[in-house]
Amino acid sequence: MTPKQKRNKKKRLIAKYGYHCCWCGNRFPSEELTLEHLQPSSRGGSNSLENLRLACFSCNNSRGNSLFFRPLREQSNSVVQENIVVGSNRDSKSKFQEFIQANGVMRPPKYLTQKTGGTDHQPEFTSKVYVKDRLYGVGKGGSKKEAEKKAADNALAKLEKSAFF
Ligand SMILES: [Zn+2]
Repeated sequence: MTPKQKRNKKKRLIAKYGYHCCWCGNRFPSEELTLEHLQPSSRGGSNSLENLRLACFSCNNSRGNSLFFRPLREQSNSVVQENIVVGSNRDSKSKFQEFIQANGVMRPPKYLTQKTGGTDHQPEFTSKVYVKDRLYGVGKGGSKKEAEKKAADNALAKLEKSAFF
């Protein structure tokens, strides 16, 4: 985009969304708002208005190229939902970790996994995943690994429904 095109897009985005950062929701003067690609251009995102939002410097920097960052103010965003599907064949635990890191939480999620029942032959494990001491998901499985994966799936499923992290 040329500087002139950028200015033009920015004007139209301000008219649509106001002087707000799409991630943190705070108000900024025009010169502190940058154009943000929901689908990063490095991953094929276009310069169309639908793919652009306004973001403050610090949110724009902390996002990087992550696909899992989503606007706080947009409950259902088709671009972001598509992105989650694209990544769905990846390991749930790393996906969940990437998601929370994209939202500015650098501490990895903590899994508490215990044997909760079953028999010696067929044990049942329950895993709870915490982020900053808050419970995000619960999963059960025949092994610790499976229970943790299910807990991550559970956490991701909840996050897909709610834009608020
Ligand atoms: Zn911001």
